[in-house]
Amino acid sequence: MRALLTLNTGSSSIKFRLFGLGADLPFLLGGKVTDIGGNAVFQVHEEEHSRDETHILPTGTTHESALSYVLDWLLSHQDGWTLDAAAHRIVHGGERYRAPVRLDAEAMRYLQSLCPLAPLHQPHNLAAIDALAKLHTNLPQYGCFDTAFHTGHDALRIAYALPESARAHGVRRYGFHGLSYAWIAHCLRCDYPALSQARVVAAHLGNGASLCAMRDGKSIDTTMGMTALDGLPMGTRCGSIDAGATIYMQRKMGLTVDALEQLLYNESGLKGLSGISNDARTLSESSDPRARFALDYFVWKCTQHIAAMAATLGGIDALVFTGGIGENNAGIRAQITQGLSFLPIFENLVVPANEERGMALEIYETFGKELTR
Ligand code: AMP
Repeated sequence: MRALLTLNTGSSSIKFRLFGLGADLPFLLGGKVTDIGGNAVFQVHEEEHSRDETHILPTGTTHESALSYVLDWLLSHQDGWTLDAAAHRIVHGGERYRAPVRLDAEAMRYLQSLCPLAPLHQPHNLAAIDALAKLHTNLPQYGCFDTAFHTGHDALRIAYALPESARAHGVRRYGFHGLSYAWIAHCLRCDYPALSQARVVAAHLGNGASLCAMRDGKSIDTTMGMTALDGLPMGTRCGSIDAGATIYMQRKMGLTVDALEQLLYNESGLKGLSGISNDARTLSESSDPRARFALDYFVWKCTQHIAAMAATLGGIDALVFTGGIGENNAGIRAQITQGLSFLPIFENLVVPANEERGMALEIYETFGKELTR
């Protein structure tokens, strides 16, 4: 069987999954390398033999050596399948990419130019593509974009209230977490066909967090903007903030642009508010009032923004939770729905995130013919 490798590369992790290239996209195996740059660990789960392996990787493991380890492991454990292609999760596709694309030098140049718009993710996403191209020269590689699901937004949702001189520079809203939302739209179509036509607010609540207003399975509005910093507060990102406050911090605190970027992306959100952790589970288990304060803030902002998404849709028929917090933290879900109890009754669902299968589906639907020829 021909197989597709999906890769989701972050600042300190690489998550991989292998799917058979057939109509039902059988899951063959999956795993991850975590704590790259620290005490890197490789873990894999093989579905067929229900086998799990964990290997400690040498100190000094880089993204490239971790990827090389993954590839070596895969190619030495081929079991009735051949590796035929790889698909990468890429956070920003800019104005150009509205669908998955075969990655070539020109595509990479364009995607590199978007790195300042997603400094936490894009450079790692692209480095994995370069590394894989060196390790497996002829392997076709594809990009799936977190911005793509939102590309049908009308002009009203895209704009910032800035003068044309700024908008002409491409200052506009995009939206992210699109692979997660596309997967939810797919699951609704399969499992809740009546809801898939309805007014749905999807809440991706994890270390990154955003909302998507969907109608007829399409994105109408979303909380993230030009960058993945906007909207809800997150693990370490601030979410929406008065732009004037950022100007004030630069002047008053003497922050350079890089220092401000570090503060807003890596030191804020749950971590900044609590001074304890970016991790919602750790905060939920803590008796420290600062932890409670950070979680109360998160719940309030989620509630407020969901109501805003409902306003975009002219009502809400279903609220769908996904992501690590959305799937596992029933307390936070209950507080959010309680805060929305002034709205007419709507359905509450949890759909587990599966961006990897969503990517495999996108690639199979778009490039299946050329891949299985
Ligand atoms: P994600 O970025 O989707 O992996 O989500 C990470 C967030 O989900 C962290 O804040 C975790 O604390 C939270 N989370 C993950 N698993 C659980 C769990 N079983 N119970 C409560 N929170 C969880």
